[in-house]
Amino acid sequence: MNFAVKSHRLYSGSSEIPFISSPNMGGQLSPKFLIIHYTASGPDSDIASYFAQKSAHVSAHLVIRRDGTVKQCVPFNRVAWHAGKSQWIGKDGTHYSGLNNSSIGMEMENWGPLKKMEDRWISWAGVEVHSKIIEACHKFGVPDCGWEVFTKAQIETAQAAARAICAAYKIEDIMGHDDIAPGRKSDPGPAWDMKAFKEQIKADAGKQSVACKSEMRGSTGSP
Ligand SMILES: [Zn+2]
Repeated sequence: MNFAVKSHRLYSGSSEIPFISSPNMGGQLSPKFLIIHYTASGPDSDIASYFAQKSAHVSAHLVIRRDGTVKQCVPFNRVAWHAGKSQWIGKDGTHYSGLNNSSIGMEMENWGPLKKMEDRWISWAGVEVHSKIIEACHKFGVPDCGWEVFTKAQIETAQAAARAICAAYKIEDIMGHDDIAPGRKSDPGPAWDMKAFKEQIKADAGKQSVACKSEMRGSTGSP
């Protein structure tokens, strides 16, 4: 799968990825980071359409569903409302506060944490979840619980999208929402293998010799 960014929109070959415009956006953005989220929703909710409602007061640039399909809601050169109160220290020591103003937000359709009731896994919405689930403790101490596993199709789409974004912009790093808002947010959580994701993007960037290779050098410690 190969995507490309043209005029701040995601393309697959010559076709533009479906664009469901969200009114929930701010001014100009020069993205330096890519932030991964989960939607905390089931397969029956269309989160891109939710972001299209002004009353939602939230948005993200991309929404990737469990089946691997992707929709764009905000152009990559405009601020989306996905990070909220958040902080990060960049590789050169720059302190970033309110990461909406410096990052692209990518939402992965996923329930997030699940509670066990007898032998069933139940979402926050009270729905029984039949997807593949892992039991794990969140790195920032959210109690041991179940987490819905991200689908292979979804991860492949996310990698292809991240590759295209890294080729188009000077992306310094990829973080989870939980990294920039620890304690307040738990997405994408322990079911998301960030190390493997970043290594894959870096390996792909090496093949394509795009900006990501040098930009993300420090993240895994290799030369
Ligand atoms: Zn989030």
